[in-house]
Amino acid sequence: MNSKHKLSLPAWIFIGMIAGIAAGLCFLGSPEFTTIYIKPVGTIYINLLKFLVVPVVLFSITDGIISLKDLKRVGDVGLKTFIYYMFTTAMAVVIGLALATAFKGLFPPLEEAALGELSYEASEAPGIMDVIVGIFPDSFLKPMVEANMLPLIVTAILLGAGILSAGAKGQKIADIVNSMNEVIMQMMMMVIKITPIGVFCLMTNVVAVNGPKIVGTLALVIAVAYMGYIIHVCVVYGTSVKFLSGMSPAKFFKGMAPAMITAFTTTSSNATLPVNIECCNKLGAEPEISSFVLPLGATINMDGTAIYQAVATVFIASCYGVDLTLGQMGMVVLTATLASVGTAGVSGAGMIMLAMVLESVGLPVEGIAIIAGVDKIFDMGRTTLNITGDATCAVWISKLERQKGRGKAA
Ligand code: ASP
Repeated sequence: MNSKHKLSLPAWIFIGMIAGIAAGLCFLGSPEFTTIYIKPVGTIYINLLKFLVVPVVLFSITDGIISLKDLKRVGDVGLKTFIYYMFTTAMAVVIGLALATAFKGLFPPLEEAALGELSYEASEAPGIMDVIVGIFPDSFLKPMVEANMLPLIVTAILLGAGILSAGAKGQKIADIVNSMNEVIMQMMMMVIKITPIGVFCLMTNVVAVNGPKIVGTLALVIAVAYMGYIIHVCVVYGTSVKFLSGMSPAKFFKGMAPAMITAFTTTSSNATLPVNIECCNKLGAEPEISSFVLPLGATINMDGTAIYQAVATVFIASCYGVDLTLGQMGMVVLTATLASVGTAGVSGAGMIMLAMVLESVGLPVEGIAIIAGVDKIFDMGRTTLNITGDATCAVWISKLERQKGRGKAA
């Protein structure tokens, strides 16, 4: 067949999304059908992506570290990445807080009766110290079996550092890791090919189930969060891509479209990781940098989640008739930044960590019930931002490393 007439994968993913929206609208009256028959196909797709996540994170980070060749470079890249992630996340919370405060007048306090009936069974959000202690694994295998990303990343970093320190004696393991990484990437390509079908099925169900609920105040809060998402993408990511990476934002966002659509529909940074690595490498990121920076970002860098947590906190405060003081807002910036580090890159995790932010400013955790029903819609946007932020860092660090290489060569 003439390849000119073949549509590219991103085009198919886009078609899958539009077709999913159309199909979802057709099923607005009977979402049971989509939940029973269409959603499971999307679940198969998500399962396959999740199945790949642990080996992708383990082998790509370890291989990324090995290919950086010396431990000093690992520390250098790691530190820059961490500072960039924390800074952009704090900016995200500030944008979210500013917007939500500006629109607060439109969020009416809820009737006491309605608040009294709320029954949100909050899964307990871990405390800050627990989050920090939990980063360090007490077993080599447990983080892999439980797909627990932060300790898994520590395992991968230690493994990579150990292989580098062992020098010639570690070479055999380095070769195995390198070869496993290649095999996993090939498996990933196979799963990526069915993305359009997965996207179609997931989108159909989301539209069919949530469509009618998008009304009134909730629609407004969703609109405010999305406004924050868009401002963050344009201002923070646009500036970063243009001025730090020297790339045209149009080129960047076009190249990122497949990953962004995958994030939008799977609502999981972890699940989107394979597609994100692929997009960043195509955009010119150095593979050894993206395989280190992106898995780390999928776990600790959640700008979209941070915006959502800020907006949701102001909204829930308004529902209870509470005005946040400046001090409380400062507390939200701190805890939302930390909460987003502790948020797992899976669907809905940001809502659980919202409890940590609400508690830090003395708001009732039950307030989450008000927005829980439409969390999926928030999650679609926030996950898209989460992975896009990781990608901006990967292209920037790649550029820095290339410049350094040239500096050394000169
Ligand atoms: N779903 C988000 C992600 O995977 C996390 C969240 O719920 O905020 O990035």
